[in-house]
Amino acid sequence: MSISFRTAFLRHVGQTSPEPDGFEVSHGEGIFLFDKEGNPFIDCISGIAVSSLGHGHPRIKDAIRKQLELHLHTMVYGEHVQEPQVALAEKLAQLLPAELNCTFFTSSGTEAVEGALKAARKYTSRYEIIACRHAYHGSTAGAESLRSDLTHIAGARPLVPGVKHIDFNDFDDLVKITDHTAAIIIEPVQGEAGAIVPSAGYLRAVRDRCHETGTLLILDEIQTGMGRTGSMWAFQQEEVIPDILLLAKAFGGGLPLGAFISSQKIMKVLSHDPILGHLTTFGGHPLSCAAGLEAINILEENHLPARAVSLERIIRKKLEHHRALREVRGRGLMLALELKNPDNLFPAVKACRNEGLLVDWFLFNNFSLRFAPPLIISEEEVNLVCAKLTTALDSL
Ligand code: PMP
Repeated sequence: MSISFRTAFLRHVGQTSPEPDGFEVSHGEGIFLFDKEGNPFIDCISGIAVSSLGHGHPRIKDAIRKQLELHLHTMVYGEHVQEPQVALAEKLAQLLPAELNCTFFTSSGTEAVEGALKAARKYTSRYEIIACRHAYHGSTAGAESLRSDLTHIAGARPLVPGVKHIDFNDFDDLVKITDHTAAIIIEPVQGEAGAIVPSAGYLRAVRDRCHETGTLLILDEIQTGMGRTGSMWAFQQEEVIPDILLLAKAFGGGLPLGAFISSQKIMKVLSHDPILGHLTTFGGHPLSCAAGLEAINILEENHLPARAVSLERIIRKKLEHHRALREVRGRGLMLALELKNPDNLFPAVKACRNEGLLVDWFLFNNFSLRFAPPLIISEEEVNLVCAKLTTALDSL
């Protein structure tokens, strides 16, 4: 007798928690995900800031199909000249400031973090790294060692040494960045801490302190990049330019893709002395790069980053004063709906599900709902989502 998919999922697929969401996906279309019974749900989290163009965007599917007919993997990263990789790297060099003209492709966010840390340590000949408390940068050893919360790092000991922490938005803490610090890694809007926005001038102060001390600024835009906060990259709103920029999540248009991007001068430390100093088999997979380039084109042509700002305004107007909410926080379509009563978090998620909305919470913030719908969501659909959210919050 065959077991149900759900049972097989729990039994044979490695789990990340004893209580997974368990939504049984049938298919996706636009902003909708359909369950096995054919019920539509509006995706208000985009697979944690990945599906920014919704599900099954025809242009992304075409780009993947076109590349599929030409070739898949041909050789480990960095040896063959693959058109989709080069085209995407060129496009990034066009879009980004001149200092960020060299892209090292990876398959995931955490791998981009690892590459950036390694490059920064090698470039500066220093080993100390500063990270922010309550940041999440990934689950591989180096990225995991950047975490500040004891519960999580307890299981990962011994950690990679040399990490110090500062509080996000604490200007006084910036003195901890010294001429011993190789790099500070920071998110322009903290994701898993609950969509925490930088205070006015904070990232500028971080940048200045890095200049003073010869420290590299690594901006983790794995969640904030690709238009989510209202500009293609969140740093554009802060008048800072990082030394190393990290991308992943929405970067691959729904396929696995990450990158760390810097000047050629910094990047060179990974290809010289020793040569082959940093390797990956699948980094910059041709299918992912083809989809990623098309994703950037769609974002640009449809002005989706700017639209995220006008949609944010509507959401704030409709929800900010709901009696169950303390605040609507975040930037663009990277929002947190903070509940007055933290006990309401899981009932709120459930009530939203009953209304046909997929929402979620954050790793380090157990009193806020995550709200990060696909950037292609229309104004009409935003109004519908706000009405459904209001009904769900009314029921608490
Ligand atoms: N940095 C940030 C800001 C993230 O949100 C995440 C994933 N949630 C990562 C890094 C790690 O990315 P990945 O899961 O692709 O390894």
